[in-house]
Parts: sequence; structure tokens; C-alpha cells
Amino acid sequence: MKFYSVMKIINEFGLLILTVTGLFAFLITNGQSVLPESRHYKLEKMADGVYAAIHNNDGGYAICNAGIIDMGDRTIVLDPFMSPAAARDLKHHAVYLTGKPVTLVFNLHGHSDHTGGNQVFVPGADIISTPNAREYIEITFDREFEENRNSAPGELVKIQKQLMTASGKEKVELTLMEDQYRAIVESLPELRKTLPNITISDTLIIHGSKRKLVVIPVGTGHTDGDMVVYLPDDDIIFMSDLVFAGFHPYFGDGNTESWIDILKDISKLRPELVVPGHGPVSDINSIYSMVDYIETLTNLVNKEIASGSNENRVMQLPLPEKFNDYLLSVFYRINLRFLYRKQTVEKSNLKD
Ligand SMILES: [Zn+2]
Repeated sequence: MKFYSVMKIINEFGLLILTVTGLFAFLITNGQSVLPESRHYKLEKMADGVYAAIHNNDGGYAICNAGIIDMGDRTIVLDPFMSPAAARDLKHHAVYLTGKPVTLVFNLHGHSDHTGGNQVFVPGADIISTPNAREYIEITFDREFEENRNSAPGELVKIQKQLMTASGKEKVELTLMEDQYRAIVESLPELRKTLPNITISDTLIIHGSKRKLVVIPVGTGHTDGDMVVYLPDDDIIFMSDLVFAGFHPYFGDGNTESWIDILKDISKLRPELVVPGHGPVSDINSIYSMVDYIETLTNLVNKEIASGSNENRVMQLPLPEKFNDYLLSVFYRINLRFLYRKQTVEKSNLKD
């Protein structure tokens, strides 16, 4: 998800929010010892030495999902969260669970909710991304930092006011937003731009003593610098924001056509477990659901354009019932607008 876009969306829609931060508690046993819990995420063991760290929707500053992979001879972390505070817990857990320091971090795309924790791993680890993801962080970090410094505290207060009268799904969504803004506001004093120091444009295979890890730059899907991490020995794939499970995705920095192609290609790997960028660990159905979401919205918008509809009417299209439970529903209209503008620009270019 693109983090500072949430703020823009709030401004655009006057969405108000509020508070109730619940903290998740969990324990992981490792032999006789007990791993201290993190309030930011829940660790899920997916295979021996492979963990998904799933953002806690009811409190916590992780915001996105991360991964810890024990290669045997080295420890790797994927997408080290939005806030340094959550990333510090992740680093602790990675060392505890694998018995080795983290020497490699992957930024599977450049959005700040997946890269804000980079600084916690440097020095000590190399950070790898695609060239475009690195460029994205380089270009957007300072602007986003300033925007957040100027408006995040005020947005947080607005959200907290709204939360006081919210209930049901609205309350869940506002709580998510509140956590994001709390994370932003509390991270600002220590946040430092920390760019990937290695970029890759082609498939990278790391042959660890325990397992093989395949990093695949996939081109433009959710952003123009996406990568996935595939563990062929374990049948597990980390998709970052190419897959949102139970959440509305964010289309604004990507290309929905090539996104679908990427998802269809990846599904041919037939992974048993899929870790999305947001939402719970799932299976290949979460990849199919993403394809369905993009295709459904694209068809809706194309039909409206064919009947001569304008942008405002397109943005009022009712949410298809099958996506009723998806969280962060504010992105639905943003995604409709993105598709409308994309299709109409392409149409006018064809005429020129
Ligand atoms: Zn993203």
C-alpha cells in the first residue's frame, strides 16, 4: 500500500477516524524458552525456518507483512515494515529464531509502509531492491516525510475523533488508519532515509545450506519495481503488495494489465502458501482473488465508459457484493478513478 496516499485519500473524502488500540499478544515457544511477543505483528511459522510476520490489525505499527527466512548459513528479512519500532522487534525475532544476525534485507517494492524499517538493519545487512524501487524511495522519501510532519498529527486527531462514534466495519477501518497515523507520528523523530545498496533487474537465486531462495523481479504490477520471493523447496511465495488478502489493493502506482499478467504467471508456480503484502497468510486462491478484483473493477469501468459515463458517476459505482468484507474500502473509489483516467487517456491517445 502506498502510505502517504492514505492521507491524500482522507483529505479527498473527508474520511474521519478514531481510536481504540488493541494490542495483540502471542507467545512462541522454541524449546524451553519463550519468545517475547511483539504488539506490532503476529509471527506465523510456515515451514522450519520460514516465518511470516503478519501485521496486527488491532493495534501495532507494522502496517505491512514481513518475512524471516533461515537459509542455514544466513538470515534474510523481507519487507521490514513501516516503523523502525516494529522493525526492531522483527530483527530481534529473526536473530532469536535463526541464531544468526540478519545480513540481507529485501524491499520487494518501494512503498514506505514496506521500507520504513530499513534503517534498523543497517549497518550489518545489505538491502536489495529493483532499481525502480530504489529510485522511488530516493525520490519520495523527503516529500513524504515533510507531508507527514505537516499533516499527520492533525489527521491522527481527526481519526481519533471519528473513532469515538464509529462502530462495526467503520470502526475496524478507522482503527487501522489510526494505527498507521500513530506509527507515522511516532516514527518521524527517528526516521532516516535508508536506501537499498544493491539493485537487481534479473532473477537472483541464493543457494543457502538449508534451502534455495529465488528472487524474481516481475516488472510493473502494484508498482514499477515489484519483486517476489519464492522458496521452491517449501512451496511458499512472498508476494508483497502484488496480493492483498481481504483488503482493497492500491492501484495508483501500478499497471493493472501487467499486474494481471504477473499474477497469472506466478500462479503457474502453484505455491502451496502465499504471503500477501497485507492480510493473512493464504493459498493460491488469494492470487486468483486479486485477478478477479482487478478484472471486475476494470470491466465495471469499461462498461460505464462505453455508455458515456463521466468520472464522477464511475466513482459512485456500488461496490460489488463479493468485496463487501474487504478492508480499507476507501481505496475502492480511488481504484475506480484510476481505471477511468487510465482508460480514457488510452482512448484519447488512440484517437491522436
Ligand atoms: Zn504498496
